[in-house]
Amino acid sequence: MRFQLTDEQRHLRSEAREFAQDIIKPRSKELDQAGEHPTDIMDELSDFGYTGLTIPEAYGGLGRGATDLAILIEELSAALMSVASTLGLHLGVAEVIQQFGTDQQRETYLPEMAAYDTVGALGLSEQSAGSDKLQMETTAEQDGDEWVLNGHKQWITNLLHADYVLTYAKTGSDSESPHNITAFLVPTDDFTVDEVWDTLGARSVKSPRATFSDVRVSDQQRVGEVGEAYVQRSKLRTGVNVPARGVGIARAALDDTVAYTSEREQFDQSIGEFQGIRWEVAEMAERVDVARLLTLRAAERSDRGVDTTRAFSMAKTAATQAAVDNANKAIQFHGGIGYTTEQHVERYLRDARLLTIAGGPNEGHKDTLAEAVYDEHPRK
Ligand SMILES: Cc1cc2nc3c(=O)[nH]c(=O)nc-3n(C[C@H](O)[C@H](O)[C@H](O)COP(=O)(O)OP(=O)(O)OC[C@H]3O[C@@H](n4cnc5c(N)ncnc54)[C@H](O)[C@@H]3O)c2cc1C
Repeated sequence: MRFQLTDEQRHLRSEAREFAQDIIKPRSKELDQAGEHPTDIMDELSDFGYTGLTIPEAYGGLGRGATDLAILIEELSAALMSVASTLGLHLGVAEVIQQFGTDQQRETYLPEMAAYDTVGALGLSEQSAGSDKLQMETTAEQDGDEWVLNGHKQWITNLLHADYVLTYAKTGSDSESPHNITAFLVPTDDFTVDEVWDTLGARSVKSPRATFSDVRVSDQQRVGEVGEAYVQRSKLRTGVNVPARGVGIARAALDDTVAYTSEREQFDQSIGEFQGIRWEVAEMAERVDVARLLTLRAAERSDRGVDTTRAFSMAKTAATQAAVDNANKAIQFHGGIGYTTEQHVERYLRDARLLTIAGGPNEGHKDTLAEAVYDEHPRK
């Protein structure tokens, strides 16, 4: 078994790290505190080709896989998680078009998405469709060559700066569930924003609630087979961006803690010399490695096209909890100044708190994981 990145992946990591640490991180506190969208940073990511990282080269992307995405997202999230979320969701929409769309949709949307001239957002969750997405109330009814959509979506990350929302709607009866949900590319202009929440973390990219009433889209805006859109989401590789965001925050919390505890002196010694702190820092490093290894394993399995259900849920729960735990420890070891916005560590905790909820709460992933474990160890 090889635990080695390719030369290309190592190059991606160092290029992305340099950009994230030199350009994004110095602006992260200001963007977070002002709740300001990182528009120019997203544009700069497109100059590197990152906004098309997983889009095939034939459509103007870099044609990289899930492992490369995990590497990139870790670096971005270590600087400012909202940048990583926006990119992860955009590439997730592109992947649905790539895997399940028509040739015409691929040719129309993917080159523009790779260049970030067209930005995608995800409209899956609703008020009654949180963990249980099959409870969605949004409907789409066919009328000739068009579909008429009615309903709402909430938590549409980056809606305010996107061009299209990949909108999931019921097109069949509940008796057909889960084969009763279809996806459509709906222009953001057709949405009426009715709530932009102020959030604990992830503050620079908003995730509003929006409604739409009798919105008509042509059948050419339907992505994938009628009724199969929800089921097809289990085949997506870009979901690995969620645990990778956790790895980034867990690592940033560790890096900042090592730097701070090496410098800060109390009782005539650096506080990093106290064994009480050193053992905790060792455990923080352990959590980063576990989170990263599990995330890369899930990514590598999906690049090989083998089942990732167990590996993904394990990575998701471990990496997102590692982010919360490391951020929390980082605040403790920074003392009072860690409780202020002068340092990054308080933001790490606020951002990390999202990750155990979004992308499906960790409890649901533990259910999935437990099911896989019991299946592997059948009782007589
Ligand atoms: C900032 C933000 C950004 C988001 N971005 C997007 C986006 O871009 N697109 C999108 O479609 N959605 C997005 N989401 C939605 C996100 O995926 C949902 O919030 C998530 O799926 C949970 O749904 P819910 O909030 O309704 O919680 P609920 O489903 O109501 O769950 C509440 C709590 O119940 C517990 N719980 C749930 N299921 C189980 C279970 N099986 N066993 C035990 N306990 C359980 C958990 O503790 C959970 O946190 C975003 C959410 C936030 C907050």
